[in-house]
Amino acid sequence: MEFGFGDGDEGFRQEARAWLAEHLDGRFAGALGRGGPGSEHEGGAARRAWERELGEGGWIGLGWDADGYGNRTATLTRQVVWAEEYARARAPGRYGHIGENLLAPTLLAYGTEEQRRRYLPPIARGEELWCQGYSEPGAGSDLASLRTSAVRDADGRWRVTGQKVWTSLAHEADRCFVLARTEAGSRRHHGLSFLLVPMDQPGRIDVRPIRQLTGTSEFNEVFFDGAVAEDLVGTEGGGWQVAMGLLGFERGVSTLAQQIGFAEELREVTRAAVASGAADDPVTAERLVRLWAELRTMRWHALRTLGGDPREAAAAGAPSVAKLLWGGWHQRLGELALRVRGAAAAVGPADWSPDAPYELDAQQRLFLFSRADTIYGGSDEIQRTIIAERVLGLPRERTGRG
Ligand SMILES: Cc1cc2nc3c(=O)[nH]c(=O)nc-3n(C[C@H](O)[C@H](O)[C@H](O)COP(=O)(O)OP(=O)(O)OC[C@H]3O[C@@H](n4cnc5c(N)ncnc54)[C@H](O)[C@@H]3O)c2cc1C
Repeated sequence: MEFGFGDGDEGFRQEARAWLAEHLDGRFAGALGRGGPGSEHEGGAARRAWERELGEGGWIGLGWDADGYGNRTATLTRQVVWAEEYARARAPGRYGHIGENLLAPTLLAYGTEEQRRRYLPPIARGEELWCQGYSEPGAGSDLASLRTSAVRDADGRWRVTGQKVWTSLAHEADRCFVLARTEAGSRRHHGLSFLLVPMDQPGRIDVRPIRQLTGTSEFNEVFFDGAVAEDLVGTEGGGWQVAMGLLGFERGVSTLAQQIGFAEELREVTRAAVASGAADDPVTAERLVRLWAELRTMRWHALRTLGGDPREAAAAGAPSVAKLLWGGWHQRLGELALRVRGAAAAVGPADWSPDAPYELDAQQRLFLFSRADTIYGGSDEIQRTIIAERVLGLPRERTGRG
């Protein structure tokens, strides 16, 4: 199947564009361009209100393959249109994306109808925010070595105990999906369950922000001490399958929107290079052109992948290829941004103090936060291992972990 926009898509684009223009005015004007990776600490209350505004407009849940949960559905091309217009309008970074793009498709694939009725409508209304409780100290790339456990109490409820780390937006989230060991003595990916845990459990859940070099914070350590889980998705002990299914939803139409943001960043760096004369340096000019060409390649890769059968694309390693392409690309752009700025890039704001959080400028933020792009969502090394083993059929990695 070829990916292409159809007749009705242009009208949909106009509708999306007009809605965004109207609603990003007034009380949300200050939230324009705020949030997103490296800026998740920005615009808290306004971005939360913005989620509800999106919900009222019916713009959450377009990609769910069923409606009736308070969402409106849209064809794949229209989802792309919405994502593109959203990025073009510089609308606020989404607080709700973990619930909408990760948990919701997982519930549609693995949840019961009762669970869908319970959790999807508040996500569609922009009322409930979720966070992802997978990684632990000692269990990142090697997620199967996780140690957080859950046991049933006298009332039959699951009680979660353990520590998660790097939990993005846990300080804002209402609920967390937690991968925990529910079968005592089980090993690796056996005996795990996918649990849904409300965050408002004082004394049983402790969210501690991880302070970054800038003094700001967007992810956290989360400590569970007998926290109550209100649901289990999939089968007891079958959480690995659900957790891996969820990771398969991590990217999709959002890739194309992300590329619009990337193109804008590349334009910014190019403008700065021309203005400062840095573009006269043939090495810098060559790198700018190379980044432009690579961005085009990424777009075609994404369009080709989106147009086809997702299972075939996954079997051909397409998600890993996409992750390798964009993660490395974004890092190289960050490096070039600093090269273009020269020594001034290393200087902090005039009012810098070691005691107060401070803002990076756009280029500094691009450089620093793109370092994480080759780590989260599965590091580059792990993506290469996936391609090596599952696509090329190379011998399996010896982990020594049994
Ligand atoms: C910005 C950001 C947001 C995040 N948000 C969340 C979140 O919301 N929820 C959540 O659960 N997690 C989150 N994470 C955590 C993320 O999933 C982990 O950082 C990632 O899985 C890597 O795990 P680790 O940090 O423990 O590194 P490690 O697994 O310790 O890896 C360290 C290095 O060793 C390499 N390595 C590890 N194993 C192998 C191997 N077998 N072969 C070759 N190289 C290897 C890795 O590639 C990496 O370079 C986030 C991370 C970042 C950076």
